Amino acid sequence: MTNFSDLNLSSDIVKAVTGLGYEEPTPIQAAVIPSLLEGKDIIGQAQTGTGKTAAFALPMLQHIVPGKRAVQGLVICPTRELAMQVAEAMTKYGEARGTKILVVYGGQSYDRQTKPLAKGKVDIVVGTPGRIIDLVKQKYLDLATVRHLVLDEADEMLSMGFVDDIETILAETDPKQRQTALFSATLPHQIRRLADSYLHEPETVKIEAEALTVDRIDQRYYMVNHDDRLAVLTRLFEIEEMERVLIFARTRLDTGRLASELAIRGFPAEALSGDLSQVAREHVMRRFKEGRLKVLVATDVAARGIDVDNLSHVINFEPPQFEEVYVHRIGRTGRAGANGVAISLISPKELFRLKKIERYTNSQIKEAQIPTAEEITAKRNARLEDQMRVWINRDRCSKEKETIQALIDEGNDPILVAAVALKLAQSEDKKRPIAPVSPLRADRDRDRGGRGGGRGGYRGGGRGGNRGGYRGGGGGGNRGGYRGGGGGGGNRGGGGGNRRRSNDRNRS
Ligand code: AMP
Repeated sequence: MTNFSDLNLSSDIVKAVTGLGYEEPTPIQAAVIPSLLEGKDIIGQAQTGTGKTAAFALPMLQHIVPGKRAVQGLVICPTRELAMQVAEAMTKYGEARGTKILVVYGGQSYDRQTKPLAKGKVDIVVGTPGRIIDLVKQKYLDLATVRHLVLDEADEMLSMGFVDDIETILAETDPKQRQTALFSATLPHQIRRLADSYLHEPETVKIEAEALTVDRIDQRYYMVNHDDRLAVLTRLFEIEEMERVLIFARTRLDTGRLASELAIRGFPAEALSGDLSQVAREHVMRRFKEGRLKVLVATDVAARGIDVDNLSHVINFEPPQFEEVYVHRIGRTGRAGANGVAISLISPKELFRLKKIERYTNSQIKEAQIPTAEEITAKRNARLEDQMRVWINRDRCSKEKETIQALIDEGNDPILVAAVALKLAQSEDKKRPIAPVSPLRADRDRDRGGRGGGRGGYRGGGRGGNRGGYRGGGGGGNRGGYRGGGGGGGNRGGGGGNRRRSNDRNRS
């Protein structure tokens, strides 16, 4: 296994990434970091989710001496969301060094961007092409001092028509002084031409998208109102035979909250977050690996450090924002010949995300019905009966028999005595009321394909078929306790017919 410390990174940078829970470099990082540190130009063919940001960010941070009153690093991104994401990551990685990173994009007030530039306080600029050019034209940004330049998601910039802008920006820099790295999921002709013109004897690194076999994964989703996610999750815990579960939550805060809410409701769970000390994290991981802890809640970032693959279930408490991330998440189950279940809780407004995921993975995710209170009660009873049968077969309860005999000797009906014993045995279940779930609100179709859930609409679309051996195909054997409402969870059919129904139902 390669470690970050094997890549010639300085100790403060290694410390920063390990502090974030990165245990080992991803393949693109292991391949690119040493070359960038040597000063080589790079063409990195890799998608979002592969860790490409750290692959270019860490060497850049290591090379740059903060506080020189000159912009030494420039990262050009196609969208403002990506620029913000990259700047945020770089700020975290470079915190210990005091490297100053400024993010610039259209739509933001110029003041916030020009002031730090005018004061010479910026070491690295991360931004979108248009705003970078504006700032250059207005003489706030001098690119002649740039030594390290990254073109991130170059194919996206191409498809958004930014190629001329990129050339304009590159012309402002000094080719002799500049190290250039270009990252792109695909390498169409125009990107190669760009690389030929502006990169100096680049090394090409290609990271294949993870080849996934999802045909062993039973992919399902449940339509839920936003506020009912936890209730639905607890219902699923009642019905499904879950052995080792990883729940993905959106934020670090959500992971802690969710784990404790589950624990309060009688389903022991723990959160794995960057907030935990290394020792605490290792402790949680060990318990999870050994099967002493069944349910782990994590963010995508924290989950990167989890090297447990034989999960019975992956649960998307909310659908991920990016399709690639979904594939990544569910690929943690159904491995090594085992079947796995991937469950997504989807609110009406998130249905468009599910559609995008289906398109991207070329697979169908089945809609399943939320277990009703009656089904859960029946399951609880069936479980108890099963346990009773086991003990009847064992017939090793002489002490208990004495108690029963004493009660019968008092003149009580044996059936009544047994029934009372059962009632007492079930009192634990009574402490766990079945969580009410409200009927699905009717806004599901109205919001379909809508506003990107308000979170910076992703540029969308599976990027031109470089997704390797992925075959999709969904389905796979049903597992254990799952009965999936009438033969495998109502198929959603071709397109948005009226799928509304009463979602239960039993406000028990
Ligand atoms: P990227 O492909 O750069 O967008 O990174 C995808 C996600 O992986 C981000 O949330 C990073 O914080 C995280 N990440 C990057 N490198 C590593 C690593 N070596 N170990 C764990 N997580 C990582």
